Amino acid sequence: MNRVQSLRGLLPPTQVVYYRKPIHIERGSMQWLYDTDGRKYLDMFGGIVTVSVGHCHPTVNAALEEQSKKLWHTTSIYLTTPMLEYAEALTAKLPDPLKVVFFVNSGSEANDLAIKLARLHTGRFDMLSLRNGYHGMTQSVIGATNIASWKHPLPSGFGILKAMLPDPLNGPWGGRNCRDCEIPAKRECDCGNGPCKAGNKYLKEFSDCLGADFPAATGPAAFLAESIQGIGGTVQYPKNFLPQAFDAVKARGGLCIADEVQTGFGRLGTHFWGFEANGVLPDMITMAKGIGNGFPIGAVVTTVEIAKALGQGLYFNTYGGNPLAAAVGKAVLKVIEEEKLQENAHIVGEYFLKQLAAIDSPLIADVRGKGLMIGVEMVDESGAPMPSTRMCDIFEYTKDKGVLVGKGGPKGNVFRIKPPMCITKADVDQCVSVIAEAIKACK
Ligand code: PMP
Repeated sequence: MNRVQSLRGLLPPTQVVYYRKPIHIERGSMQWLYDTDGRKYLDMFGGIVTVSVGHCHPTVNAALEEQSKKLWHTTSIYLTTPMLEYAEALTAKLPDPLKVVFFVNSGSEANDLAIKLARLHTGRFDMLSLRNGYHGMTQSVIGATNIASWKHPLPSGFGILKAMLPDPLNGPWGGRNCRDCEIPAKRECDCGNGPCKAGNKYLKEFSDCLGADFPAATGPAAFLAESIQGIGGTVQYPKNFLPQAFDAVKARGGLCIADEVQTGFGRLGTHFWGFEANGVLPDMITMAKGIGNGFPIGAVVTTVEIAKALGQGLYFNTYGGNPLAAAVGKAVLKVIEEEKLQENAHIVGEYFLKQLAAIDSPLIADVRGKGLMIGVEMVDESGAPMPSTRMCDIFEYTKDKGVLVGKGGPKGNVFRIKPPMCITKADVDQCVSVIAEAIKACK
């Protein structure tokens, strides 16, 4: 990432600009973006996992236009048909008892509200999240976001403890073969047909943290985790970790919150929600990004019982569930279903993972992910994380060749590929050949 000092009218320190020569985007259509010089880019990052069904998708655009002629805004103190219809359509995508929705405007706001709900419902304060997780930027949720580069030198969101990250690549115990990924790992693991030994070790560490860091008489208010870590570099836990971690938290009377901001809405292919792919049932789900295909929408879905806790005071959100957002959200759900985008994410995603894994380069330490949520971890010739300048060289090269990918991980050495779910195998071929060429070219 490169901070540009002269951005007309924008405050430089707050503006993170990805490229050395930043791109100036003018318009988008499905998986394509066009800059002000008319150059076309294949968008493999989808506005950071946000453009779920395609830029300016005609069905979504039409729903927005139609609603904009009827009603923009009233605030949620009045009922509106778009909000009611959308609440019904969204909760229909979730299993019982997750049937109550609160609409907000972003992922940070959704997590902020979920934390408040958990604390009110349990009457406890301290929470647990995972190292290397990202849950937002507000002053409260920054306490759950555990990546140093996103922290400022301020006290941040107290009352959120951090558990060790079950990281199969960089953690001490491995577990790479035991994640939910189609790519055969380079090293065999020794679990045979039994439970993942690495996952159990990470779980022991997690249980120790539950035992040592929370009041013995109670326990945590909640455990907040992404189904696959996004900004942290597409980190997938060993398969047996999350179900047992949820059980351990529930056994202490705590709630489990699944942050589906990146993993929801069919992106993982096999399932509509990441928690389903992990075989767990959370008490709350937080969502944003793909929910609105780029329109600012966020939501918390929970149970009636937990939702009641908010009745201890008033809760209000001026724009949450406004008619425009609700019309867009409903159209996005319709498009995912009608165009079978979850299935596409599954088929094209598997193909993508296999093509990436077939790139013959010692600089690729790991290809991982599920569906269209993919990470490619890079190292240098010595096996150390690829230094930032070389990552940026590769990154700049792919952009100059017309392909946009993302970058992340605590060391900035993971390419993140999370495109609109409408991409094709031909788009995958283009992206993979540009990445392979860029790795070779950037010494
Ligand atoms: N949770 C996750 C998993 C995210 O990736 C993000 C944003 N990157 C957020 C929460 C926060 O969302 P927002 O930027 O809309 O506040």
